Amino acid sequence: MRKNIVAGNWKMNTTLEEGVELASSINDALKGKKHNCDVVICVPATHLVSVNAVIEPETVGLGAENCSEHEKGAYTGEISASMVASTGATYCILGHSERRQYFGENNEQLLKKTKLALANGLTPIFCVGEMLEQRENGTFNDVVRSQIEALFSLPIEDFSKIIVAYEPVWAIGTGKTATADQAQDMHANIRMAIREKYGDVADDTSILYGGSCKPTNARELFAKPDVDGGLIGGAALNADSFMGIIEAFD
Ligand code: PEP
Repeated sequence: MRKNIVAGNWKMNTTLEEGVELASSINDALKGKKHNCDVVICVPATHLVSVNAVIEPETVGLGAENCSEHEKGAYTGEISASMVASTGATYCILGHSERRQYFGENNEQLLKKTKLALANGLTPIFCVGEMLEQRENGTFNDVVRSQIEALFSLPIEDFSKIIVAYEPVWAIGTGKTATADQAQDMHANIRMAIREKYGDVADDTSILYGGSCKPTNARELFAKPDVDGGLIGGAALNADSFMGIIEAFD
């Protein structure tokens, strides 16, 4: 059975001290309580080791926001999947629209990153999503389908470890959320594409929605049958609002 997941994406926010405090507050707020979803925080690479020291793995999962498409070597400034795994992190966001848009990441690189993440025991949170223009000119289903198809050379046992995040670019950090129906339609399309390639794995794949998700709209989004949780940016930077989203599953 697929899992409900709420994952935070801190992006390039928080100093180390602020990040450790935030992670610790989230862990404390969740500790000992039963919630109907797994919780993950994806934090800047500089914070991974320190954050890992203040969270309990059974309470909050830890992830990075990116990893290199190269295994190791002369790639100054890059962080490999094995380095991420060595911090104790077990998740890694890949293909976030900001990486695609500002750092030119393409499908070929993302497949390499995904393979390295998996080979190092990390669970990829693989992001897909269309730009505003593609939403408006009606190509959004094809765009997102081709982004997910970029992983379809993976063997079934590898693809089955992936979490997908649908994040319409026009909804990220803009305050403009996709309606619950728009999210459901796209999630169902993504699941259909996965089913055509990998059969029943589609039923077990968690597909998260991301894009201005807040405590006020999370419940409606998560109530949709193909929306299995959220990848949360801005609202993950405050323990109360992040908790409000987690509680939308209660
Ligand atoms: C994100 O960047 O993954 C995201 C969903 O951001 P926000 O929630 O701020 O729109």
